[in-house]
Amino acid sequence: MTGQVAVEPCPACGAVEVAVLCKGTDRLYRTTGKEFQMIECRRCRLIRIHPRPTPGELTGYYPPQYWFEPLGNTADRLEEFYRRFVLWDHVRFVKRAIEASGETGVVLDVGCGGGLFLRMLKESGMAVAGLDFSLEAASIAWRMNRVPAVCGNLSSAPFPAGSCRAITMFHVLEHLYDPTAYLESAHALLRPKGRLVIQVPNAACWQFLLLGQNWSGVDIPRHLLAFRTSDLEVLLDRCGFEPVRFKHFSLRDNPAGLATSLAPGLDPMARRVRGVRESPRGRLMKDLLYFCLVAASVPPTMIEAACRAGSTVMLEARKRT
Ligand SMILES: [Zn+2]
Repeated sequence: MTGQVAVEPCPACGAVEVAVLCKGTDRLYRTTGKEFQMIECRRCRLIRIHPRPTPGELTGYYPPQYWFEPLGNTADRLEEFYRRFVLWDHVRFVKRAIEASGETGVVLDVGCGGGLFLRMLKESGMAVAGLDFSLEAASIAWRMNRVPAVCGNLSSAPFPAGSCRAITMFHVLEHLYDPTAYLESAHALLRPKGRLVIQVPNAACWQFLLLGQNWSGVDIPRHLLAFRTSDLEVLLDRCGFEPVRFKHFSLRDNPAGLATSLAPGLDPMARRVRGVRESPRGRLMKDLLYFCLVAASVPPTMIEAACRAGSTVMLEARKRT
């Protein structure tokens, strides 16, 4: 669907001419029935949501229990085991970036959530710190994973300039009003050879082409922007970074993303967040069904990624010299 709508200027280039790519509402958590469009700038092709939610509205679109806090029962222990298993991909990618940099200092994870990723890095002997918008997330990171975390904005984060050997942002940029400000802050916080690691859903994936607004990577209305790899390269260049490595497959995100696109009603986090009433047996059956769907999604998402059209993109960047 293509058409002209009255919109606020593109945050990247200031143009107001757009094409409407698709429209939809909060399909996953059902926090609102309001309809939004995903629009593409006709000049620079950056994709964004319209109308853009105000900060007050956006707060309401992040439901309580958005953050995973294991309660110690068998199901939660199994879930934590699974989360650790699929996070190794991220840990390996970041460790390789840090080794390549040769820098010392802190690894700062922006959008640290419950802190499991940082805990895994800490277990490898690294100094780590987390930052998150959510006080609930930052407190879970400390309480459950003993990871020092602060609640706030990267632009005013309490870390000295040049103190970080690496800054990671997994699924952060697409939630921001001003990703440029975050990347500029990261540039200032990084040591000279420090590395920036970013992961976002990839709007140039086959799933977006095939499924439109039903692709879980657009996540209306929580994602304000949808990036292709080329959009990221432009953004990084503007903020003084150069990419050195890309990865289009993530064991944690790509198969589960396809499963959630196809069956959002089975997504364990969506069920928890929406407070769906289930018997223990019902919960187990749905979890198993979802797990089978994730496993079946591994081959097609690997093929998608092998063609550089994976549903996420992770990249390592360094400061441009
Ligand atoms: Zn634009």
